[in-house]
Amino acid sequence: MVAAPKPEILAAFQAAKGFMPLDEGLALYEAALETGALGLPLLEVGTYCGRSTILLADAAREAGVSALTVDHHRGSEEQQPGWEYHDPETVDPELGVMDTLPTFRRTLYRAGLEEHVVALVGRSPQLAKIWNSPLGLVFIDGGHTDEHATADYEGWAPHLAENGLLLIHDVFPNPEDEFTGQAPYRVYLRALASGAFTEISATDSLRVLRRTSAGI
Ligand code: SAH
Ligand code: MG
Repeated sequence: MVAAPKPEILAAFQAAKGFMPLDEGLALYEAALETGALGLPLLEVGTYCGRSTILLADAAREAGVSALTVDHHRGSEEQQPGWEYHDPETVDPELGVMDTLPTFRRTLYRAGLEEHVVALVGRSPQLAKIWNSPLGLVFIDGGHTDEHATADYEGWAPHLAENGLLLIHDVFPNPEDEFTGQAPYRVYLRALASGAFTEISATDSLRVLRRTSAGI
């Protein structure tokens, strides 16, 4: 049987603000649970309000590892005021700029998963540069520009242990399917072309690749 999170975790996931649909969330959970057996931390780029983090954290709890989640919490381009994915509730009323960190903290607390998560607050390339420890899973769900998606791949994929999993969200082979563009799709093609990864599953826009050799 396919592993699924407990009903209370699923309810917390469904109630959380964010952009991860259920079927892709379940695929993320299954991949996280499987790779958790490596005994290494699971890392997400793109926390937002913690919706996908709930599933990563619950799988990390099951596996006895930590979930790490990276975000500067100021939102991606398409989440800024006036853009398609903007949510006015994510704006800090005092500063008038986006701040998803408070909502993320509430989400995680309510789900009872705080102790399984380490939040890394900052710019992904800046954090990746000082990172020096192997990871069991890298889930790329951050900025959708080529600059950001490429930097996420170049910064974090080299830290994946052999047999670790690389997950990429918002992979749209058809340019008409998503107005934020095809940068994640290009990163996915690049990972495959490197010869270091083997695709193991695709669920809507989520791709799961296994690191099968050292050279990236
Ligand atoms: N995984 C989330 C959605 C993430 S949205 C969910 O399940 O709902 C993308 C997030 O990436 C935004 O919160 C944005 O602030 C963050 N982000 C974009 N570019 C970034 C960068 N260069 N460094 C850190 N975070 C970034
Ligand atoms: Mg996404």
